[in-house]
Amino acid sequence: MNRLVALVALALAVLLTTTPATARAAPLEVVASFSILGDLVREVGTDRVRVTTLVGPDEDAHGFQPRPSDARLAREADLIVANGLGFDPWMERLARSSGHPRAVVVASEGVTPLKDTGDHRHSHGHGHNHGAFDPHAWQDVANVRHYVANIAAALAAADPDGATHYRENANRYGRELDALDADIQTRLAAVPDASRKIVTAHDAFGYFGHTYGVRFLAAAGVSNHSEASAAGVARLVRQLRREAVPVVFIENVGDPRLIDRIAREGGARLGGKLYSDALSGPDGPAPTYLKMMRHNLEVLVEGMTGADR
Ligand SMILES: [Zn+2]
Repeated sequence: MNRLVALVALALAVLLTTTPATARAAPLEVVASFSILGDLVREVGTDRVRVTTLVGPDEDAHGFQPRPSDARLAREADLIVANGLGFDPWMERLARSSGHPRAVVVASEGVTPLKDTGDHRHSHGHGHNHGAFDPHAWQDVANVRHYVANIAAALAAADPDGATHYRENANRYGRELDALDADIQTRLAAVPDASRKIVTAHDAFGYFGHTYGVRFLAAAGVSNHSEASAAGVARLVRQLRREAVPVVFIENVGDPRLIDRIAREGGARLGGKLYSDALSGPDGPAPTYLKMMRHNLEVLVEGMTGADR
């Protein structure tokens, strides 16, 4: 009898401790194509989502080849988030071939895309899919408001019970984006026009330059980092000298050696490291989108206003 009581008590205890956990919905499984998107999904979803990014911190999404494990993640996901604009076509292919009718959220939906002007100096001869648009829309903070709205709407559609949660997070984050946008404009306003002319490794800052009034020249195009041709590099070096471009920046993705050479031959200073297409790891200076943009702002302003050469 005592034993029976003990068993019943045990069963009750197990029920009581496990019921709340099983009654609470499991987090929504979201797969995002690259680290910046993953961060935005986390900001909007917080504890209601579990986010996996296929292209991680400091990794290059251009020309990424999904692994079999990525296909499995896409198959098991509740939601798949892609940038669009030709940045991550492999993500949409992965979603299609995963055999699931999962909606792919194209986070950049609604932004006004900048044309890929072709005003960059690299060879197109390696079979890369060169899109009609510049995909790096997140470099204009106003565009990220579209990203966040699209992500919030998609999360709410996949998890209607969380709709209010997602909307409130999106609103809170939107205010942080507004503050960031204002800070970028204020800081850059103090940089003289003649200094607002810089070189980066690949053409990732078109939106930033367009919105905030900085002219970016790039060694390679919008869709890859490594294919600057010898003739293109020579042309860029001549342009650096002719226009007295003061500073050249490396990026966290791609090979810094080319940029180092361009700076030396073009007679420009070497600035700090910009985070263009990927966040840093958690211990780096750019572990979130907001921190990435603030870090880039500091590096850019410091580079543009640094000591005369
Ligand atoms: Zn890029």
